[in-house]
Amino acid sequence: MFGNFLEQRISGLENRMTKCPFSAIFGLLCIIAGSLSLPALCESGDPYASARQRMVLHQLKARDITDPKVLEVMGTVKRHLFVPPGHASQAYVDHPIPIGEGQTISQPYIVALMTQILDIQPGEKVLEIGTGSGYQAAVLSHFTDRVWSIEIRKGLAESASKRLKALGYEKIRVKHGDGYFGWPEYGPFDAIMVTAAANHVPPPLLEQLKVGGRLLLPLGSTTYYQTLTKITKTPKGNEVQHLLGVAFVPMVGKILEK
Ligand code: SAH
Repeated sequence: MFGNFLEQRISGLENRMTKCPFSAIFGLLCIIAGSLSLPALCESGDPYASARQRMVLHQLKARDITDPKVLEVMGTVKRHLFVPPGHASQAYVDHPIPIGEGQTISQPYIVALMTQILDIQPGEKVLEIGTGSGYQAAVLSHFTDRVWSIEIRKGLAESASKRLKALGYEKIRVKHGDGYFGWPEYGPFDAIMVTAAANHVPPPLLEQLKVGGRLLLPLGSTTYYQTLTKITKTPKGNEVQHLLGVAFVPMVGKILEK
């Protein structure tokens, strides 16, 4: 039995060495990675595979991200392709990253947490407000193929739209506009995720939520801190849950007029 095990490891080493175009040392690293359930280290052409797996282990699993599908998706989506090239090496660290125009991509934990809270089921219609880099929309699209996203900054809307198409996320629809008003043509939605700080709940977003639908948003001050808030529309009214303190970049546009 031990011999058989050894044989499997040796033939595994050969396979891995042929897949990894580098060196015998890298092959050995792949074996170690394999036994640590980090096979992505060996994935050729993805220099950040191991950084991404470490992010899943140390920033998500180590905290309260328990949904296996969320962990799998966070381990799959190549976050380094959503940040400016100069920040690629920072893509899997535990903090937000600038994406241009003074905006940021949220830290991986917050993306995973918001995705876990919304608990998207296949076929559900999801609207994101604040496309930014397109990363959160890409993550959501692994749960359902019906994702819409609105971005108020034209440059970001255009670059995210291009990036998503180039990376094969063709089904995600991105619009340049004020997310305050939602996207009534495609509503009502099963879930709406707002990824910019709001000082009140935009009434059009509540209107575009199905009964049973969930709206998740950072609610509070647009300039300081907010509380991540989940609102569930029920036949009897809206159920509100205040979840945790967060700090998002401000939502702008109509929301600031009130
Ligand atoms: N979800 C993004 C990061 C969001 S940063 C990602 O995965 O990269 C917040 C984004 O919300 C910014 O890009 C900002 O321009 C956008 N935003 C701010 N106010 C908005 C509004 N009223 N409608 C749509 N987008 C808005």
